[in-house]
Amino acid sequence: MLKNKVAIVTGSTSGIGLGIARALAGAGADIVMNGFGDSGEIEKLRTGIESECMVRAVYSPADMSKPAEIEKMVQHATSELGHVDILVNNAGIQHVAPIQNFPPEKWDAVIAINLSSSFHATRAALPQMLDRNWGRIINIASAHGLVASAEKVAYVASKHGLVGLTKVVALETAKTGVTCNAICPGWVLTPLVQKQIDARAANEGISVEKAKLELLGEKQPSLEFVTPEQLGGVAVFLCSDAAAQIRGQSIGVDGGWTAQ
Ligand code: NAD
Repeated sequence: MLKNKVAIVTGSTSGIGLGIARALAGAGADIVMNGFGDSGEIEKLRTGIESECMVRAVYSPADMSKPAEIEKMVQHATSELGHVDILVNNAGIQHVAPIQNFPPEKWDAVIAINLSSSFHATRAALPQMLDRNWGRIINIASAHGLVASAEKVAYVASKHGLVGLTKVVALETAKTGVTCNAICPGWVLTPLVQKQIDARAANEGISVEKAKLELLGEKQPSLEFVTPEQLGGVAVFLCSDAAAQIRGQSIGVDGGWTAQ
C-alpha cells in the first residue's frame, strides 16, 4: 500500500516511534529513522527493518530541539530516498514537577522537542508534498493534548499546542492531497512511561507491578496499556485512501481515558 512512499518518523529509535516506523515499513514505505541511543543498537534496528520489510531505511541523528538539524534531516531524507511523503512527528520527552519547582530549562526543552520540532519539520517537508499533491502528516500528541494532569505543565501545554498546530495545517492543506491529523495515545508502556512508574514505586514504597496498576487505574478505564503496534496500525490507516478526508482530527487511542 505504501510502496514508493518515503516516511520520516522522528524519535523512532524507541517506543511508539519504532512501532510506527515498523508498521509503515511493513506496509512498504521506505523509512527515515531518527532519535537517540547506542549507535550499534540503532544500526541493528535499521538493518532489521530493511531485511524484514524489504524496504530502504536510513538514519538521521538530528536533534529535534535544533531547527537547523531538523531542516537537514528533511534534506537528507530527500537526497537519500528521493522525496518525503509521510512525516510522523513523534519525538517527545516528559518532565514531572509542580509548576513552582519546574525548571525553566525543562519547560524550554519540552516545548522545543514536543511542539516546535513539528512546526520546523512540517515547514520543511510540506512544500514537496504539495508539489506532488499527496502527503500525510501525523502528529503524535497524547490524551494530554485533550485533557490535563497535574505536574505536567510543559507536556500538557506542548500537546495541546500540537493539537492546535494539527488543525491549522489541516485547514491550510484542506484543498490538497495532503492531510494532517494527530493521534492521542493513552498510557503506552515505553521507556518514557516506565520512568514514571519507577518514580511512583520509589515515592510510595510499592512494587513496580503495583505502581503500574495504580497508574492505569487512575486514568485508563481499559486497565490495559496501548501498544506501539496498535498505534502503528492507526498510522498506516491514516496513510490509506480511506483516510483521505480525515483532516485536522485528534484521534484518541487511549483505552477510554478521554471518554470519562
Ligand atoms: P520513548 O522515550 O520510548 O521514545 C522517545 C523517542 O524520542 C526516542 O527515540 C528518543 O531518542 C527520541 N528523542 C527524544 N529527544 C529527542 C531529540 N531531542 N531529538 C530527536 N529524538 C529525540 O517515548 P515514547 O513513549 O515512545 O514517546 C513517543 C511519543 O509519544 C512522544 O511524543 C510522547 O509524548 C508520545 N506519547 C507517549 C505516551 C506513552 O504513554 N508512552 C502516551 C501519549 C503520547
